[in-house]
Amino acid sequence: MTDLLPYLKGDGRPYELEYKIAGNSGTQTVQTQEEGKLFYNVKGQEWERLYWDPETIYREADTSEAPDKYYVQMKDGVSGADWVKRNMDPGEEYQTDLLVKHYWKATGELRAEAQVSNTLRLVAVHDTYTFKSGIILQDVVEMAWIIGGQPEELYYYAKGYGLVAWKQVKRGWESYICEELLGRPDLVREVVRWLPDDPSPLYYKPTSDIKPCLMRVVGSAATMLSVRTGPGINHDRVWKAKGGTLIQVNSAEKTAPGNVWAEWGSGLWCAIEYNGDTYMTRVDGGEALVPDEPFRLLRPKGYVTQLFGKRPEVYARWNLPGHEGIDFGVPIGSTVRALHDGTVYRVHLKDDNNYGIHVRIAHVFPNGKEYKTIQAHMRLALVKVGDVVVRGQPVGEIGLTGNTTGPHEHTSLKEKGATAAGLTNYPGDFIDPALWIDL
Ligand SMILES: [Zn+2]
Repeated sequence: MTDLLPYLKGDGRPYELEYKIAGNSGTQTVQTQEEGKLFYNVKGQEWERLYWDPETIYREADTSEAPDKYYVQMKDGVSGADWVKRNMDPGEEYQTDLLVKHYWKATGELRAEAQVSNTLRLVAVHDTYTFKSGIILQDVVEMAWIIGGQPEELYYYAKGYGLVAWKQVKRGWESYICEELLGRPDLVREVVRWLPDDPSPLYYKPTSDIKPCLMRVVGSAATMLSVRTGPGINHDRVWKAKGGTLIQVNSAEKTAPGNVWAEWGSGLWCAIEYNGDTYMTRVDGGEALVPDEPFRLLRPKGYVTQLFGKRPEVYARWNLPGHEGIDFGVPIGSTVRALHDGTVYRVHLKDDNNYGIHVRIAHVFPNGKEYKTIQAHMRLALVKVGDVVVRGQPVGEIGLTGNTTGPHEHTSLKEKGATAAGLTNYPGDFIDPALWIDL
């Protein structure tokens, strides 16, 4: 048995290949670059990416298809497809079925896709091998891509180097090592912005059963945001958003929500975990995306009689852009319950203002930020300042106090610092409770 990994992966030394392909000839500098459990076969600026686990070596993206094209090998919805077993005997073959998706480098848009079947054979393990240039290398494996039982292409990998020769058997096209370039600077890989830094399958899982959630764009600059299920997979949706924007991710749109955010690679990609699955999110423009936990406030009973932001003409007299909360119509005497765990910081017991008898509670949401809720138009408050309350705990009973034409629970939500940060156009940190309440 031969472990193919040290042959395929090399140790990063650069060397020159002489090539004769389709009437063209010349030389090209190549190098294998290792990054974690990935390695790149770099050819000039273009590259092919592989990774491995204890049993298998996988091929994933290849930017050398053409100057304007790249492709990604996929299997079972995962980026990267098994290519060879790590440990093979001479003469042994490895067969696999995979999907190849072809894309445009400029837009990341899908050009074509095809289901293919690959068979690789370990032809021989050579103690020494003499290449056409006269260069002799030790420890060379010779592999073949088999079509119809016959070798279509031959690959030669030398331990410590990587791919040192290639041959297209029928056409006679070939390349082979012609010069060692020790001490040369590393090649600079071209950037294909649609490909993430790390395609490891751990971070690529197909979307399924995604539930709605909220994500918040952090930073202040205008941001183009695309959420997708994996590298090279077309945008599921693109938002134009700016810092502070809360984005509602809907399952129907097959986007990628989550409750854990991790900066990934250059910071342009995020891995988001949700229900044990991990999804990739790309954030263009250098901004990060923080998905808030799939956390919801308790929904007050009753039916919605007025949404946030409605009737600006009425609320202008209080210098508000519109209704500063949501109204839920309920019968007089209905129990008002705390929308979330918190501490009562104000109880107004007189019917002498717009809210009438009302209760205000301070909360810390699972995203770590501080919020306040106001529940108004009560006939009776059941808590006092300083009380620690739990979600669902009765805090009052609905009445007709304050500015009201019928019994309803007015619910306002404030996020600390939201006005100053420009997250809301309301004064007093009012934000739309619908962001946290399922209406
Ligand atoms: Zn109201």
